[in-house]
Amino acid sequence: MNGKEDQKLQCGNCGELRHCILPFNSIQLAVTKCNNIHDSLLNYSTPEVLSSCCCSMCFSSVMSRSTTIVEAPAIFLVHLLRYEYDRESNTKRKLQTDFHISEEITICNEQYELTSVIYHIGTSAHGGHYVCDCKIWKENRWFHLDDERVDEIPPPFAEQFSTSDIKDLNVVDLSEESKSSTRRKRKRTNDDDPVFNSPALNRQKDCYILIYVRKTDMENAVAAAESSFEHPLSSPLVESVLDANSQIR
Ligand SMILES: [Zn+2]
Repeated sequence: MNGKEDQKLQCGNCGELRHCILPFNSIQLAVTKCNNIHDSLLNYSTPEVLSSCCCSMCFSSVMSRSTTIVEAPAIFLVHLLRYEYDRESNTKRKLQTDFHISEEITICNEQYELTSVIYHIGTSAHGGHYVCDCKIWKENRWFHLDDERVDEIPPPFAEQFSTSDIKDLNVVDLSEESKSSTRRKRKRTNDDDPVFNSPALNRQKDCYILIYVRKTDMENAVAAAESSFEHPLSSPLVESVLDANSQIR
Protein backbone atom coordinates (compact mmCIF):
# COMPACT_ATOMS: atom_id res chain seq x y z
CA MET A 1 0.00 0.00 0.00
CA ASN A 2 3.03 2.29 0.43
CA GLY A 3 4.25 4.74 -2.19
CA LYS A 4 7.86 5.60 -2.89
CA GLU A 5 9.74 8.88 -2.61
CA ASP A 6 13.06 9.83 -4.16
CA GLN A 7 14.95 11.91 -1.58
CA LYS A 8 17.88 13.86 -3.04
CA LEU A 9 20.71 15.77 -1.39
CA GLN A 10 22.79 17.88 -3.74
CA CYS A 11 25.82 20.14 -3.36
CA GLY A 12 25.40 23.56 -4.99
CA ASN A 13 29.19 23.89 -5.36
CA CYS A 14 30.54 20.65 -6.86
CA GLY A 15 27.21 19.12 -7.89
CA GLU A 16 27.68 15.93 -5.84
CA LEU A 17 24.29 14.20 -5.75
CA ARG A 18 23.11 11.56 -3.31
CA HIS A 19 19.65 10.08 -3.35
CA CYS A 20 17.67 7.18 -2.01
CA ILE A 21 14.23 5.73 -2.69
CA LEU A 22 12.18 5.37 0.49
CA PRO A 23 8.67 4.00 1.14
CA PHE A 24 6.01 6.37 2.49
CA ASN A 25 2.27 6.55 2.98
CA SER A 26 1.91 10.08 4.32
CA ILE A 27 3.43 13.49 3.69
CA GLN A 28 3.66 16.66 5.74
CA LEU A 29 2.67 19.98 4.18
CA ALA A 30 3.25 23.44 5.64
CA VAL A 31 0.13 25.62 5.77
CA THR A 32 2.25 28.78 5.66
CA LYS A 33 3.81 28.28 2.20
CA CYS A 34 0.68 27.70 0.11
CA ASN A 35 -2.98 28.13 0.97
CA ASN A 36 -4.36 25.16 -0.98
CA ILE A 37 -3.69 21.48 -1.56
CA HIS A 38 -2.84 21.77 -5.28
CA ASP A 39 -0.12 24.41 -4.87
CA SER A 40 1.22 22.64 -1.77
CA LEU A 41 1.67 19.40 -3.68
CA LEU A 42 3.51 21.24 -6.45
CA ASN A 43 5.66 22.99 -3.86
CA TYR A 44 6.40 19.68 -2.09
CA SER A 45 9.05 18.78 -4.70
CA THR A 46 10.71 22.20 -4.71
CA PRO A 47 14.36 21.94 -3.52
CA GLU A 48 14.97 23.33 -0.03
CA VAL A 49 18.26 25.01 0.91
CA LEU A 50 19.83 23.47 3.99
CA SER A 51 21.68 25.59 6.52
CA SER A 52 23.30 22.93 8.67
CA CYS A 53 24.78 20.44 6.23
CA CYS A 54 28.02 20.23 4.28
CA CYS A 55 29.17 18.32 1.22
CA SER A 56 31.23 15.19 1.89
CA MET A 57 33.26 15.83 -1.30
CA CYS A 58 34.12 19.55 -1.27
CA PHE A 59 32.91 20.52 2.24
CA SER A 60 30.76 23.33 0.85
CA SER A 61 27.76 24.24 2.98
CA VAL A 62 25.69 25.19 -0.07
CA MET A 63 23.43 22.14 0.00
CA SER A 64 19.86 21.53 -1.08
CA ARG A 65 17.38 18.75 -0.42
CA SER A 66 14.36 17.72 -2.48
CA THR A 67 11.75 15.00 -2.31
CA THR A 68 9.86 13.68 -5.31
CA ILE A 69 7.01 11.19 -5.20
CA VAL A 70 7.92 8.52 -7.77
CA GLU A 71 5.29 5.91 -6.93
CA ALA A 72 1.87 6.86 -5.58
CA PRO A 73 0.35 4.93 -2.62
CA ALA A 74 -3.18 3.51 -2.65
CA ILE A 75 -4.12 5.60 0.39
CA PHE A 76 -2.51 9.03 0.56
CA LEU A 77 -2.49 10.73 3.94
CA VAL A 78 -1.65 14.43 4.21
CA HIS A 79 -0.57 15.83 7.56
CA LEU A 80 -0.91 19.63 7.63
CA LEU A 81 1.69 21.24 9.86
CA ARG A 82 -0.65 23.27 12.05
CA TYR A 83 1.75 23.68 14.94
CA GLU A 84 4.97 25.66 15.18
CA TYR A 85 7.42 26.66 17.87
CA ASP A 86 7.07 30.29 18.94
CA ARG A 87 10.48 31.62 20.05
CA GLU A 88 8.99 34.63 21.85
CA SER A 89 6.68 32.67 24.13
CA ASN A 90 8.90 29.56 24.13
CA THR A 91 5.84 27.40 23.44
CA LYS A 92 4.18 25.57 20.61
CA ARG A 93 1.29 27.37 18.96
CA LYS A 94 -1.40 26.47 16.49
CA LEU A 95 -1.42 28.12 13.05
CA GLN A 96 -4.98 29.02 12.08
CA THR A 97 -4.02 29.82 8.50
CA ASP A 98 -6.67 29.23 5.84
CA PHE A 99 -6.00 26.10 3.82
CA HIS A 100 -8.28 25.11 0.95
CA ILE A 101 -8.96 21.45 0.29
CA SER A 102 -10.10 19.88 -2.98
CA GLU A 103 -12.11 16.70 -3.28
CA GLU A 104 -9.86 15.48 -6.11
CA ILE A 105 -6.10 15.66 -6.52
CA THR A 106 -3.58 14.13 -8.95
CA ILE A 107 -0.36 12.45 -7.86
CA CYS A 108 2.01 10.81 -10.35
CA ASN A 109 -0.72 11.20 -13.00
CA GLU A 110 -3.15 9.19 -10.87
CA GLN A 111 -6.49 10.50 -9.63
CA TYR A 112 -7.29 10.57 -5.91
CA GLU A 113 -10.55 11.22 -4.13
CA LEU A 114 -10.94 12.77 -0.68
CA THR A 115 -12.63 10.38 1.76
CA SER A 116 -12.00 11.92 5.18
CA VAL A 117 -10.77 15.08 6.92
CA ILE A 118 -9.83 15.30 10.58
CA TYR A 119 -10.05 18.75 12.21
CA HIS A 120 -8.52 20.14 15.36
CA ILE A 121 -10.87 22.65 16.99
CA GLY A 122 -9.32 25.19 19.32
CA THR A 123 -6.56 27.77 19.36
CA SER A 124 -4.13 25.92 21.64
CA ALA A 125 -1.41 23.54 20.49
CA HIS A 126 -1.75 21.71 23.81
CA GLY A 127 -5.42 20.85 23.79
CA GLY A 128 -8.63 21.07 21.82
CA HIS A 129 -11.20 18.81 20.26
CA TYR A 130 -10.95 16.53 17.22
CA VAL A 131 -13.84 15.98 14.82
CA CYS A 132 -13.98 14.64 11.27
CA ASP A 133 -15.87 14.53 7.99
CA CYS A 134 -16.11 11.11 6.32
CA LYS A 135 -17.49 10.06 2.98
CA ILE A 136 -19.43 6.86 2.31
CA TRP A 137 -17.95 6.47 -1.12
CA LYS A 138 -20.40 3.95 -2.54
CA GLU A 139 -23.34 6.20 -1.71
CA ASN A 140 -21.56 9.50 -2.37
CA ARG A 141 -22.69 10.83 1.04
CA TRP A 142 -20.74 12.87 3.58
CA PHE A 143 -21.05 12.65 7.37
CA HIS A 144 -19.69 14.84 10.16
CA LEU A 145 -18.57 12.94 13.27
CA ASP A 146 -18.25 14.68 16.63
CA ASP A 147 -17.93 12.26 19.55
CA GLU A 148 -21.23 10.39 19.79
CA ARG A 149 -22.95 12.63 17.26
CA VAL A 150 -23.07 11.84 13.52
CA ASP A 151 -24.65 14.29 11.06
CA GLU A 152 -25.14 13.86 7.34
CA ILE A 153 -23.82 16.95 5.57
CA PRO A 154 -23.50 18.26 2.00
CA PRO A 155 -20.10 17.72 0.34
CA PRO A 156 -17.98 20.01 2.57
CA PHE A 157 -15.48 21.04 -0.11
CA ALA A 158 -17.72 21.39 -3.16
CA GLU A 159 -16.63 24.32 -5.33
CA GLN A 160 -19.92 26.19 -5.11
CA PHE A 161 -21.00 25.01 -1.68
CA SER A 162 -23.47 27.25 0.10
CA THR A 163 -25.16 26.69 3.44
CA SER A 164 -28.44 27.39 1.64
CA ASP A 165 -27.93 23.98 0.01
CA ILE A 166 -28.63 22.30 3.32
CA LYS A 167 -32.04 20.66 3.22
CA ASP A 168 -33.27 17.59 5.06
CA LEU A 169 -30.30 15.90 6.66
CA ASN A 170 -29.97 12.76 8.68
CA VAL A 171 -28.91 13.26 12.26
CA VAL A 172 -27.64 10.23 14.15
CA ASP A 173 -27.06 10.64 17.87
CA LEU A 174 -25.21 7.71 19.44
CA SER A 175 -25.34 8.94 23.03
CA GLU A 176 -26.71 6.54 25.66
CA GLU A 177 -29.82 8.57 26.37
CA SER A 178 -30.96 8.60 22.76
CA LYS A 179 -30.10 5.11 21.57
CA SER A 180 -33.77 4.25 21.27
CA SER A 181 -34.18 6.96 18.64
CA THR A 182 -30.82 6.89 16.90
CA ARG A 183 -32.15 8.19 13.64
CA ARG A 184 -34.28 11.22 13.19
CA LYS A 185 -34.65 13.89 10.57
CA ARG A 186 -34.96 17.56 11.02
CA LYS A 187 -35.12 20.60 8.83
CA ARG A 188 -32.13 22.89 9.01
CA THR A 189 -31.70 26.53 8.23
CA ASN A 190 -28.55 28.60 7.91
CA ASP A 191 -29.13 30.10 11.32
CA ASP A 192 -29.59 26.99 13.41
CA ASP A 193 -27.13 24.63 11.78
CA PRO A 194 -24.74 23.47 14.50
CA VAL A 195 -22.22 21.91 12.12
CA PHE A 196 -21.84 24.61 9.50
CA ASN A 197 -22.46 27.69 11.59
CA SER A 198 -20.79 26.70 14.81
CA PRO A 199 -18.02 29.21 15.62
CA ALA A 200 -16.15 26.24 17.08
CA LEU A 201 -15.35 24.69 13.70
CA ASN A 202 -13.80 26.51 10.76
CA ARG A 203 -12.99 23.95 8.07
CA GLN A 204 -10.29 26.05 6.39
CA LYS A 205 -8.54 27.01 9.63
CA ASP A 206 -8.95 23.74 11.52
CA CYS A 207 -8.30 21.05 8.87
CA TYR A 208 -5.43 18.88 10.07
CA ILE A 209 -5.32 15.40 8.47
CA LEU A 210 -6.59 14.68 4.94
CA ILE A 211 -7.11 11.16 3.65
CA TYR A 212 -7.25 10.57 -0.10
CA VAL A 213 -7.77 7.20 -1.82
CA ARG A 214 -6.60 6.40 -5.34
CA LYS A 215 -9.71 6.01 -7.47
CA THR A 216 -8.57 2.72 -8.96
CA ASP A 217 -8.10 1.36 -5.42
CA MET A 218 -11.35 2.64 -3.94
CA GLU A 219 -13.15 -0.71 -4.05
CA ASN A 220 -10.25 -2.48 -2.31
CA ALA A 221 -9.87 0.29 0.29
CA VAL A 222 -13.58 0.17 1.15
CA ALA A 223 -13.49 -3.64 1.40
CA ALA A 224 -10.45 -3.44 3.71
CA ALA A 225 -12.16 -0.83 5.91
CA GLU A 226 -15.36 -2.88 6.11
CA SER A 227 -13.47 -6.08 6.99
CA SER A 228 -11.72 -4.21 9.82
CA PHE A 229 -15.10 -4.08 11.59
CA GLU A 230 -14.84 -7.86 11.98
CA HIS A 231 -11.68 -7.48 14.05
CA PRO A 232 -11.82 -9.47 17.32
CA LEU A 233 -11.23 -6.23 19.26
CA SER A 234 -14.74 -5.08 18.33
CA SER A 235 -15.78 -2.49 20.90
CA PRO A 236 -19.10 -1.00 22.06
CA LEU A 237 -18.25 2.03 19.89
CA VAL A 238 -17.93 -0.15 16.79
CA GLU A 239 -21.20 -1.88 17.68
CA SER A 240 -23.01 1.43 18.02
CA VAL A 241 -21.60 2.73 14.71
CA LEU A 242 -22.66 -0.47 12.93
CA ASP A 243 -26.09 -0.15 14.51
CA ALA A 244 -26.39 3.47 13.37
CA ASN A 245 -25.16 2.61 9.87
CA SER A 246 -27.74 -0.16 9.52
CA GLN A 247 -30.49 2.32 10.34
CA ILE A 248 -29.18 4.92 7.91
CA ARG A 249 -29.22 2.48 4.96
ZN1 LIG B 1 30.37 19.58 -2.99
